[in-house]
Amino acid sequence: MGARSEAPNSLEQVRTFLNTWRIPNDTRVATDLLAELIEDDARWSAELPGMTGSRSLPELTSLREELRGALGQARPDLGAALRRHPLIALVGSEAEGEPPIAHLPVDDNAAGRILGIVVDALALGRWDRLKACPDCQWVFYDHSRNGSRTWCAMYAESPQGRACGSIAKMRAYRARK
Ligand SMILES: [Zn+2]
Repeated sequence: MGARSEAPNSLEQVRTFLNTWRIPNDTRVATDLLAELIEDDARWSAELPGMTGSRSLPELTSLREELRGALGQARPDLGAALRRHPLIALVGSEAEGEPPIAHLPVDDNAAGRILGIVVDALALGRWDRLKACPDCQWVFYDHSRNGSRTWCAMYAESPQGRACGSIAKMRAYRARK
């Protein structure tokens, strides 16, 4: 089994969005790519094709923070985000893997569309499978059978594998000595 980290269907775009902030292992400095992504129409459409509508940096930054705080939880409190971005329920597309009911923002904007996909993922029992690595904060989708994956680099041989899990294990090993 490889280290698959991609989330199913449109939830993958939420993961891409959340990963516009992280702490790369090589620099160890928190990096925020959201502002430049918002300004770049071509990149936004390529990386977040479903997140159409207006884009506001303060709104998207707040939402990203709230959603990161809600990672791994089956019943997160999204009340504040839902008040800012009310959703309507529609019978969704017949695309495979997409839910029969989809949630879209009343006011068409990217933040509301992201929130709608999060709500759909909650309904499908998938949201709590999105987790942030405790070390580099990189968000991955936990495909493990029992939902026990913690580190982004659980499988170090993977192309996107970072050193986080092994660094933590080394720290624990040194602490014991
Ligand atoms: Zn990591």
